[in-house]
Amino acid sequence: MIIKLKPDITSEDRNRLVHIIQESGADYSDQDAINQSEIYINEAYTGINIGLFYHMPGVESIIEGEPIYNLVSRNYKKSDTIIQLDDLYIGGDNYPVMIAGPCAVENEDQIRETAQLVSSLGVRIMRGGAYKPRTSPYSFTGLEERGLELLGKVKKETGLFIITEVLDTADVEVVAAYSDILQIGSRNMQNYKLLKAVGRIRKPVLLKRGMSARLDEFLGSAEYIMKGGNEQVILCERGIRTFVEYSRNTLDLNVVPVVKNLSHLPIIVDPSHGTGRRDLIMPMSLAALAAGADGLMVEVHPHPDNSWSDPEQALSPEQFSLLMEKFTHFLEWLNKNVSVTTAP
Ligand code: PEP
Ligand code: MN
Repeated sequence: MIIKLKPDITSEDRNRLVHIIQESGADYSDQDAINQSEIYINEAYTGINIGLFYHMPGVESIIEGEPIYNLVSRNYKKSDTIIQLDDLYIGGDNYPVMIAGPCAVENEDQIRETAQLVSSLGVRIMRGGAYKPRTSPYSFTGLEERGLELLGKVKKETGLFIITEVLDTADVEVVAAYSDILQIGSRNMQNYKLLKAVGRIRKPVLLKRGMSARLDEFLGSAEYIMKGGNEQVILCERGIRTFVEYSRNTLDLNVVPVVKNLSHLPIIVDPSHGTGRRDLIMPMSLAALAAGADGLMVEVHPHPDNSWSDPEQALSPEQFSLLMEKFTHFLEWLNKNVSVTTAP
């Protein structure tokens, strides 16, 4: 339940209200809401008489029922959340970030070659799965800890930041030890135990939208992470299942401006999984930037046709290099503050 307060509520009226809530034993929060104009009462409350509040002085309105999310909402925090990795900032007015790398870490040569390629093109964050969620158990499911070690090795060599997926609560610690951002994949967006586990760490988490998830469910999952105390959440639109047959998924770019309105969290777009087609990655990348995305995550492989997973959507080095060129030019054209980063 949310109690919306009138902007001119007196401190006496406000204190009386808070006193009643405290007396009832309800778990509530009224900090950080914009202008302190709302009091959020947690679902765990018992025995509170909602009727009491309707006619109390200073109360503007009451939203009954349990909102799915609160901490992730713009109502709760007005300013954009900015994720910091040393001198790199994600979100707010910062230059949109490009995250690139293979679907999976396959071997040392492959990951080093990719790291050198993306780094030479100005990319600061490399992706690469060590634990791979695959539809078939007979497919390559990742090098696991060995994959993390290889990511750690090329991170040292190149200075790239690393993002990699964590599939299981048991692996959160080891994945966090080797990476700068932990990825929660689409299939795990509603794995609440895993969300709680990454809520307990203090490293950025990139949360991918479930392939059949509504927006409120997506934000509800982000709420789980934030409720655990981890405020460093990046949302990622990666396409949803629709009736179309010509692409792997339908990239829901509507969600970008809608999320910007509803939430203070940064949102990036993954056109690789969103389309599943190399030829669609360039146009949909630019469309995502035009929609206001805080960055992109793209799959690139030194030899895409030999990729052990998702070969049909892996960009070649030449294609990726062209994408980087267009990325920069398009942002200049959109008039983003191209070389300036803003501290939080
Ligand atoms: C990935 O990014 O490696 C991945 C498996 O994507 P998704 O969870 O979006 O399917
Ligand atoms: Mn992939």
